Amino acid sequence: MPLPRTFNAGPHDHQHCIDTAIDTAANLCAERGIRFTRIRQRVLTLIWETHEPIGAYAILDALKPDYPRAAPPTVYRALDFLIEIGLIHRIESMNAFVGCTHPTESHSGQFLICARCSAAVEMDDSGIDDAVRRGAEQMGFQAQRQMIEVTGLCPDCRGAAAD
Ligand SMILES: [Zn+2]
Ligand SMILES: [Zn+2]
Ligand SMILES: [Zn+2]
Repeated sequence: MPLPRTFNAGPHDHQHCIDTAIDTAANLCAERGIRFTRIRQRVLTLIWETHEPIGAYAILDALKPDYPRAAPPTVYRALDFLIEIGLIHRIESMNAFVGCTHPTESHSGQFLICARCSAAVEMDDSGIDDAVRRGAEQMGFQAQRQMIEVTGLCPDCRGAAAD
């Protein structure tokens, strides 16, 4: 069962989402010979607790019971690692982090973000990636990272706004 990649995922077996994300991460690290340490695993699990982006300080608070000595650098190091290998994305406009639903496919990330409920869903259209890369190349620019964030209203919130 693939991970939900749409708004209105509705009630679903979210434990399955968490388990899939952790398994995929463990396999990815094993394949690349990277250590998937306990803290990295814990931070990824915390990010996957919901499908909504979570901030670094919320992650730090949630870590405290198990890692009383955890400090911001502990969290940022784990986050940098998870971003680096493509397991999570950073949503710049929210200063928050969200689990990637398809980390094994190479992509740069386009997010539709609800301004009302903060739901953020990945929309991966390789045509957009290509267009940005081509446009940049035409200007002699070598693109290294691109992240597109589109703000608006999700289907639920559009419904609520219309009532
Ligand atoms: Zn889920
Ligand atoms: Zn992604
Ligand atoms: Zn919404």
